[in-house]
Amino acid sequence: MVDSVPLLEVSALGKMFGALRALDDVSIAVNRGTFHGLIGPNGSGKSTLLKAIAGAHFPTTGTIRFHRKDITNWAPYQRARAGLSLKFQITAVLRELSVYDNVLLALQSHESPWSLVLSRTRRRLDSQIMQALDRFRLADRADELAGKLSHGEQQWLEIAMALAPGPKLLLLDEPTGGMSPEERRMTGELLLPVKAECSLVIVEHDLDFIKNICDHLTVLDQGRVLCDGTVREIEESPEIQRVYTSR
Ligand code: ADP
Ligand code: MG
Repeated sequence: MVDSVPLLEVSALGKMFGALRALDDVSIAVNRGTFHGLIGPNGSGKSTLLKAIAGAHFPTTGTIRFHRKDITNWAPYQRARAGLSLKFQITAVLRELSVYDNVLLALQSHESPWSLVLSRTRRRLDSQIMQALDRFRLADRADELAGKLSHGEQQWLEIAMALAPGPKLLLLDEPTGGMSPEERRMTGELLLPVKAECSLVIVEHDLDFIKNICDHLTVLDQGRVLCDGTVREIEESPEIQRVYTSR
């Protein structure tokens, strides 16, 4: 049976930083099997919204429901264990560790400490790590130091780290920042097959990239939802023409 309740429901979310209203009455719904793009000018609240969903910021008002559960007050690790995974805007791979160990570290927080001594757990983790690396064309580089990877490959490693635990919803904040056009095109190609098992909320500046991979878009402006709909609906909306041509 198809579940008609959205995987993620953000309702009337507000976030104040002192006197600054970073999010104002923001509501979005993300369905299973959907890639959902968040766009909008700099400072419009995109990263704040992703962080609020992941639990890195607690909202001032509003609620967040994931898998029908109210997770508004859950700690980040509880959200991660429930199937939410976030890659931040700033690259955070550990350059002095191998590519393999970076993914291992990302996975370990999902395991109970005592289970890590079992050889069957280690075999399962090894297969999860190699699958995640293979997906992002990094399996051959598993033993190299992460610092030896190019900037684009480090971004892919981070996506592999976020995907390795098998999340139900992946949150990506500008994953193609600083990439070459070819790496950007490849990122879209590598992400699309993920849709079979995991939904995505992605922040991106590159409109062509986001239109190619997303089904649904939300446009934020000054912390508010300016418009929300399918890629086609948003492309034809007069509000987006106004925001993107007036700045
Ligand atoms: P975007 O990702 O769309 O560029 P952000 O969500 O990063 O925008 O920021 C939205 C607004 O909130 C901006 O005015 C920004 O300066 C402010 N802001 C973001 N994070 C913080 C913070 N930790 N403390 C204070 N202000 C913040
Ligand atoms: Mg941002």
